Amino acid sequence: MTVASEKQAQHAVFRHVIPAGEPYLFEVKKGQTLRLLDLEGNQAIDTLFYNAQNPRERYDAQRTLRRQNNAYLTSGSVLYSNLGNPLLTIVADTCGRHDTLGGACAQESNTVRYALDKRHMHSCRDNFLCACLHDGRLQKRDIGANINFFMNVPVTPQGGLTFEDGISAPGKYVELRAECDVIVLISNCPQLNNPCNGWNPTPAEVLVWN
Ligand SMILES: [Zn+2]
Repeated sequence: MTVASEKQAQHAVFRHVIPAGEPYLFEVKKGQTLRLLDLEGNQAIDTLFYNAQNPRERYDAQRTLRRQNNAYLTSGSVLYSNLGNPLLTIVADTCGRHDTLGGACAQESNTVRYALDKRHMHSCRDNFLCACLHDGRLQKRDIGANINFFMNVPVTPQGGLTFEDGISAPGKYVELRAECDVIVLISNCPQLNNPCNGWNPTPAEVLVWN
């Protein structure tokens, strides 16, 4: 369900543009609101969330979907942790659908799905690992099943999963209220082998309000 936000960009306490294809790791405090903004449209923003007080506590896709009885994320969705605690709540969403089943692209999956010579292309898993190494609090074992904001992975009537053209557009956004201090780990997806970025990875912006 699409819900617009009243928040004004000029009142944000923090803004950062993530270049196309790049990782970004930052923190959002309890009670703050985070907006992920799809600047140019159809850009998958692969994202993981952790409790900043205990980074072993992280986003749990299975628990989140089971508790809301729905396969897609949108306004009203509560993102639960592997310990059963709410990490964030989606409070606004002008796109209307976000995926958490398709996972992140990786060197290995690019090779298996597309071609051996795709091995050296950039991937979300490598982005996640680079950001973790740089930050120091997260490690390889902390990379679990992620959210793909703005990515369209419909479940077919037969139960299949397909990567489809996005339904996002320039300026669409999703807003989340942090229910605890969270580490946000983003890969602004560099994928060029399927339509998740409209075959053209573009920048995305993060904005934070108190
Ligand atoms: Zn990716």
